[in-house]
Amino acid sequence: MAVMIPFHVRNILVLAVSLLVAPAAAAQQPRGAFPFADPQAFFNGLFGEETPEERRRLESVKISFEEEKRFGNAAARQYIEHLKQQGAEVTDRGRDVEYLRRLVETVRPQMEKARKYRRLTIYVVDSPTTDARTFPGGTLFFFRGMLDFCENEAALVGVVGHELSHLDRGHLLLPLRRSKFAQTAFGGQGAFSPEEFFASAGTMMRMFTRPFRPEDEAEADLDGATWTYRAGYDPREMGKLFLAMHRRDAGKGPDFMPAFLRTHPFHMDRFRAIEDRYEHLNRAEPAENLYIGAANLRRRIPRSERVFPE
Ligand SMILES: [Zn+2]
Repeated sequence: MAVMIPFHVRNILVLAVSLLVAPAAAAQQPRGAFPFADPQAFFNGLFGEETPEERRRLESVKISFEEEKRFGNAAARQYIEHLKQQGAEVTDRGRDVEYLRRLVETVRPQMEKARKYRRLTIYVVDSPTTDARTFPGGTLFFFRGMLDFCENEAALVGVVGHELSHLDRGHLLLPLRRSKFAQTAFGGQGAFSPEEFFASAGTMMRMFTRPFRPEDEAEADLDGATWTYRAGYDPREMGKLFLAMHRRDAGKGPDFMPAFLRTHPFHMDRFRAIEDRYEHLNRAEPAENLYIGAANLRRRIPRSERVFPE
């Protein structure tokens, strides 16, 4: 039988064994015990750097919207549990959520897959962390710390655009593609079940706490900046946000960074890339009076509702 060997052979074998024994064994085992002594290290090994060939194969793994939603919703639920265990309240209603919903709607129509993602779920996490995160199927989390750290609506729209870009470009499907690929490569019987695949080790959520590829982050930044510009805001405010975070976090190790920034040892590159994109847009599609919206953010009144003089 000609089996294509995906990723690292050794780890795949470990995975195959774990698939056979994990569901029953894990139920009685404390978290992190057999078969994954260190689940994070395990997944780092399994889902490490791909070769271009592996990357091409991964891209060809088809994920239906149904699978995406099932997996994304399950991961988002685990994430909410995780946040609650950390003592952070999570809400899908209230003034901040409504405000963010309006901002999301100023960006969403610019997505290539705007129709597919017409229904999005928005949560606000009552935590001082400067973070934002999106799960497959369209569940978005914005941390209060991010809302506080943004100085104006333009910066926050940039963050919203960045998150929607991950969704639009399928960046979030990578863990799902990898797991489906690994499972089918081993001739898994029956329907692919991402929940079962990961439930045993409780690692689904962990996978989503892993950073994206740096190139995905760069792409999301550029989409975010472009959509912000085309929505009539000044995308340089998003660049300034990164610069401010960079200054705040200078000297801290990457583990102290929010996930939103963690893949970036090079925040300055990120800042400059946004400046460059702005220059490019300004030449190609000149726009006057790009909006900043400091009062809008402060008062949680979107520009679509009211324009303040600035
Ligand atoms: Zn990102």
